[in-house]
Amino acid sequence: MPIEANHLGMAFELHEREIENSTYFRYCAAHEFRLQCCHACGLIRYPPTTACPWCASPNAHWVVVEGKGTVHSYTEVQHAIQPAFKALVPYLVLLVELDTQRGRPTEHEALRVVGNLTNADGTLAPREIVGAVGIGSRMKMVFADVAPGLSLPQWTLDHDAPQPQWPWRYPGISTSPSTAASVRSP
Ligand SMILES: [Zn+2]
Repeated sequence: MPIEANHLGMAFELHEREIENSTYFRYCAAHEFRLQCCHACGLIRYPPTTACPWCASPNAHWVVVEGKGTVHSYTEVQHAIQPAFKALVPYLVLLVELDTQRGRPTEHEALRVVGNLTNADGTLAPREIVGAVGIGSRMKMVFADVAPGLSLPQWTLDHDAPQPQWPWRYPGISTSPSTAASVRSP
């Protein structure tokens, strides 16, 4: 059975013949973050693919990966590209570098996972938190159930982790100290 969903007016369909992606999303639907681990070289990879990007082995198994990491980069969406997004802006798209396998196989590489900035319940974060997260912020993964059978891995601030006093933000979009302080100490 394919995974079929409608999210914000957009149809989503994922066939079983897309073995890697459908397996990945079935784990997500169960709120499990699993990635492929190569049998030959032992490295974990993201996104799901048919072969290892480092050694080309097609043999891998799915391992549970801890959803914790640091914001590596981000973009702040302020203008809706479709009408359904109009009520949601501004929102952040985060590229979070996982703690797992950081700096491997070379010092420049890591598992970096895309997701939106959300509250702990998976809903998009409000404006004051959007303005307080930046490069260096510590994040943990949550799953947002967007339709039956479809859950998306998203990112929320990890309040149990030490946060940087001033996460790096692109110039022109300011973070007020009072907001940052309130985000750090809920
Ligand atoms: Zn490999």
